[in-house]
Amino acid sequence: MGRRLDQYFDYGASTPLDPRVRELMLPFFGENYGNASSIHSWGRTGRSAVERARMKVATALGADDPAQIVFTSGATEGNNWIIQRYGPGFVSPFEHSSVRESAKSTGCQCICCAEHSLGAVTGHHKLISVMQVNNETGTIWDPAPYRPFADVLHSDLTQAFGKVECDISSLDFATLSAHKIYGPQGVGALYIKEGHAEPLIYGGDQENGLRSGTLNVMGIVGLGEASKISAAERLQDAAHARELKEVVLESIRALSDWEVNGGDHCSPFILNVSFRGVVGESIVVEADAKGFALSAGSACSSGSGKGSAVLRAMGYDDERVRGAVRISFGRYATQESARALGLTLTETVQSLRKMKC
Ligand code: PMP
Repeated sequence: MGRRLDQYFDYGASTPLDPRVRELMLPFFGENYGNASSIHSWGRTGRSAVERARMKVATALGADDPAQIVFTSGATEGNNWIIQRYGPGFVSPFEHSSVRESAKSTGCQCICCAEHSLGAVTGHHKLISVMQVNNETGTIWDPAPYRPFADVLHSDLTQAFGKVECDISSLDFATLSAHKIYGPQGVGALYIKEGHAEPLIYGGDQENGLRSGTLNVMGIVGLGEASKISAAERLQDAAHARELKEVVLESIRALSDWEVNGGDHCSPFILNVSFRGVVGESIVVEADAKGFALSAGSACSSGSGKGSAVLRAMGYDDERVRGAVRISFGRYATQESARALGLTLTETVQSLRKMKC
């Protein structure tokens, strides 16, 4: 079966490349092959493209100075960078695995939580890391109240940047990724408030000596343009996502025994639903066979077999964790395809439940 762009509902895992972003990247796959660190004109072309991209990311994020933006290979790298260099401390139990697993390895503790809410921390700590939007449920938190309790406050903004309003004024570090905002995979950025940090990778002194290695010019160009476009179109994208979410919810209303996960304060781009008596992965497989892309949990944790650590941290019972499906919305899905998805989910869940009887 041919894959249809409008039947893609896994924008939380990755977004299609925006054609406007691709257009700007293309010369860097062709005639613009210079190393951005070289001083000849080939190199200077790359360097100025990188600096233009840095400015676009800084402006989209609301940073004071483009020098506060350091390019990385993505959010996993940015998260590991800060947790490894500045931990141990406290992290939220709802973090992406790249924070959670890194936190484990440095002896971080988890902030206590009750369902979808994060509790207080006592005392003062080297590091606190709290994401703004959860990648599995879309739940929104505010890292700012933790500011007085840490030397370093970090937030993983991967699912927030370009999607919901981000206020970085309380943060020392923030992580971004291009492929959640219609940019290319394998590139991201770290916001560094003070402009300097403990280096991640030593070598040729690129990125002010903080993150050495030949710059991924085409990727960085893509991240810059994707940041600019997603900032300009954020409200329109969010309104579209909100409508699609409503359509899916309306179209599964006839089904019994399902619940929305993540609480009341969620990103419009993510809908996490548990269907009792079925396994989320089976729904994903059946929906795939019918031409729809969904996730059970996050793409990064699929295959772990343990069920979502985030949903477990939210206190949900085993059946609810097992039956969870993430539907994530974006620009190229339509109300018609959202309605068709709702219908497919209804039929799939009904037939999977029948098979068990
Ligand atoms: N943090 C969050 C919240 C994410 O959703 C993701 C991507 N699934 C990551 C980090 C990892 O990002 P990347 O793919 O750029 O390494």
